[in-house]
Amino acid sequence: MNSKYFIISAPSGSGKSSLANFLLDKEKSLAFSISSTTRKKRESEVHGKDYYFITKDEFKNHIDSNNFIEWEQVYKDDYKGTLKSEIKRLVDVGKHIIFDVDVVGGINLKKYFGDDALSIYVDVPSFDILEKRLKSRGSEVVKEIDERIEKAKFEITQKEYFDVVLMNDEFDKASLKIYEIIKNFLRE
Ligand code: 5GP
Repeated sequence: MNSKYFIISAPSGSGKSSLANFLLDKEKSLAFSISSTTRKKRESEVHGKDYYFITKDEFKNHIDSNNFIEWEQVYKDDYKGTLKSEIKRLVDVGKHIIFDVDVVGGINLKKYFGDDALSIYVDVPSFDILEKRLKSRGSEVVKEIDERIEKAKFEITQKEYFDVVLMNDEFDKASLKIYEIIKNFLRE
């Protein structure tokens, strides 16, 4: 079996992580690509499940050793990247892989995996809604929210580079739609 790659990207607050979790629950042949990050762990997060939380020095060593498929400084003091070893770990056990990455990371992963990958941009009906969702979720401090809003302004201009743009207006509808999209790509 050849592994397939599902890249889910969008600005922060668009609901992409909830969609990724929905798919992981529903389709057992899928596994989550755990990214490495230098940002501080949030209380609810688990090392080795949500992220590999590593130091900046460790991250830099990985860059120097060419260990990343893609990496980025996503925010100030927040480097994130996909390790080649992570993909090998999942491919070796026969999984298809889901990525939850930012928009630039998504475009880079699509270039890397080519036709084996489907890149999905999760859209929201308006920028105001995105801003409201970000402010209401309470996982970031005000400075971080502002940083994310600024980044989102650029990210929404990039959706045309994705294979699919999925509107996440209502979660129930969007989750069924993305499940169907993934099932179809697995059948190809
Ligand atoms: P958070 O800090 O809220 O977990 O994630 C911030 C942003 O970084 C999100 O858009 C998330 O999808 C993205 N992200 C997570 N892992 C990676 C990665 O490995 N590479 C890239 N480029 N972005 C990532």
